[in-house]
Amino acid sequence: MSSNAPAPDPAGRPASTGIDAGIGHTRAPADDETGLGSLHPRLPSPLQEVKDARFARHGVRLLLKRDDLIHPELPGNKWRKLELNLRAAADTGPRPLLTFGGAYSNHLRATAAAGRLLGLPTIGVVRGNELASQPLNPVLRQCAADGMRLHFLTRSAYRHKAEPEVLDALRARFGACYVIPEGGSNALAAQGCATLGRELRAALASADGPLIVGVACGTGGTLAGLAAGLAEGPEPRPRVIGFPVLKGGFLGAEVAALQAAAFGARTGDWELNERFHGGGYARTTPEIDAFAQDFTRRHGLVLDRIYVAKMLYGLTILAEEGTFAPGATVIAVITGPALTA
Ligand SMILES: *Cc1c(COP(=O)(O)O)cnc(C)c1O
Repeated sequence: MSSNAPAPDPAGRPASTGIDAGIGHTRAPADDETGLGSLHPRLPSPLQEVKDARFARHGVRLLLKRDDLIHPELPGNKWRKLELNLRAAADTGPRPLLTFGGAYSNHLRATAAAGRLLGLPTIGVVRGNELASQPLNPVLRQCAADGMRLHFLTRSAYRHKAEPEVLDALRARFGACYVIPEGGSNALAAQGCATLGRELRAALASADGPLIVGVACGTGGTLAGLAAGLAEGPEPRPRVIGFPVLKGGFLGAEVAALQAAAFGARTGDWELNERFHGGGYARTTPEIDAFAQDFTRRHGLVLDRIYVAKMLYGLTILAEEGTFAPGATVIAVITGPALTA
């Protein structure tokens, strides 16, 4: 299975805009050669301008922040969210990593890969005990191939997975583990994602006009950190629009809580736009599908359909509606590659 292949670069890769000029692509502190730095992440991730008439017509530039290119096996926000957690697990033991996810979780897959690459045992607690008696799907098969121990919970037990009784039972079974919550979003994950905001600030320091950053949201950990990293700079602060891919309207409180845990308070200029979830997680609409195919034709970039396509669709509709002032720069965070699982 070639699920770890990075998404192809845009065909006729846009010429450098000068925006990412002078930014190196590796940063491996010398004291980290045996840790995460030895994996050679591509950081800062590239920032690329794409010419898109739907934005240009309104005097708006579109840039793609290519976090999908950070690492072939720990791509995008999964790298940023795991980085500080992996250091903490390694520094306190090292302890095995235990985390949670659905059967198609990119986070489970990234955690399993991190465990293999860094030599940490991993345990994946999977929603749905009916899966235990079925052949593994490609995501879970990859997790198992990376050495992850899979443990299936009933859906009702899974709902209570953050409660002490369930965690105690897991600890009794698997020993002292470093527990990472579902989707990888905890305070350290949000702090890791603040680096994304800092990279954007550094790259766009001399840009004029309003800056708008779009990011897709599952648990909201990426948004929480991104907005905090951007807020460290001078006014006016870039505005961040989070595009939830789940229905429900619960996310704003969770992002604020994550920011409080990670940074001490709600911070940054961020909002959620709930218009483009397309019916919910892993659901889609003919409009979103057509948009994603057309985007690939225009720009040569295959979009992750769960997250990235919905965010870019939302930004494009907002641009066409005239939401962004002429002279504005819109940065779309490509939080991960299109995985072919
Ligand atoms: C996991 C994932 C997200 C969701 O990130 P959160 O921090 O949970 O909001 C967004 N995009 C991609 C590509 C992902 O894999």
